[in-house]
Amino acid sequence: MILVFLGPPGCGKGTQSQFLRQEYGFSHLSTGDMLRTEVESKSDLGLKVSETMKAGLYVSDEIILDIIKKNLDQSQTRGVLFDGFPRTLVQAQGFENVLESQGKKIDFVVYFSIPDAVLVERIIGRFNCAKCGCVYHEKNNKPRVEGICDTCGGNRFVRREDDTEESLQKRLRIYYENTYPLIDFYKNKEILIEIDSSQSLDRVKERVLSVINSV
Ligand code: AMP
Repeated sequence: MILVFLGPPGCGKGTQSQFLRQEYGFSHLSTGDMLRTEVESKSDLGLKVSETMKAGLYVSDEIILDIIKKNLDQSQTRGVLFDGFPRTLVQAQGFENVLESQGKKIDFVVYFSIPDAVLVERIIGRFNCAKCGCVYHEKNNKPRVEGICDTCGGNRFVRREDDTEESLQKRLRIYYENTYPLIDFYKNKEILIEIDSSQSLDRVKERVLSVINSV
């Protein structure tokens, strides 16, 4: 099964992906995570994209499609979940071509809709385990034991450099210009399912599961 999670920064794509990966064995392909790993390891690619990411801008379609092609073969599990990709019409078209050449197709695109005002609070309160990247939130999604990651037991947490209010406003502008049109693109293909992501994490989780179980 191939699923795409679509929505603005802070809508909960990463949190729901994490849940499907841990509890349902999905492969989770997040282009943002892949790029952050490149930046941390100071690879050529990491050095190239670091400033773009810090500024909240999009990395080029060419680089993104290359990374996806390299990672597509991890798809031996029950399902593969794409989080934060595609983000432009060029990426969506390129992705379709790559999948087609492998005899595959997207089963569903889940669009996490949420008012912009809620996103500020979600982004400003979020933090990650420094070791495994697991996402938490100061109010809505704290680790079960304070200071200890539920997943790996790590005890150091970090905040993303681009999770500031100023960067969020820029990321939202870019999202509406480049990514929002994908909603109609996938609606026309009749594979788009909208979930109201301003509901509680558990309620959203239930809706995501009902989508998966319907396949
Ligand atoms: P994310 O973790 O999905 O919020 O992505 C973090 C940053 O990585 C974005 O703000 C972009 O700079 C870059 N990025 C991740 N995925 C993509 C993509 N599909 N297209 C362009 N840039 C991306």
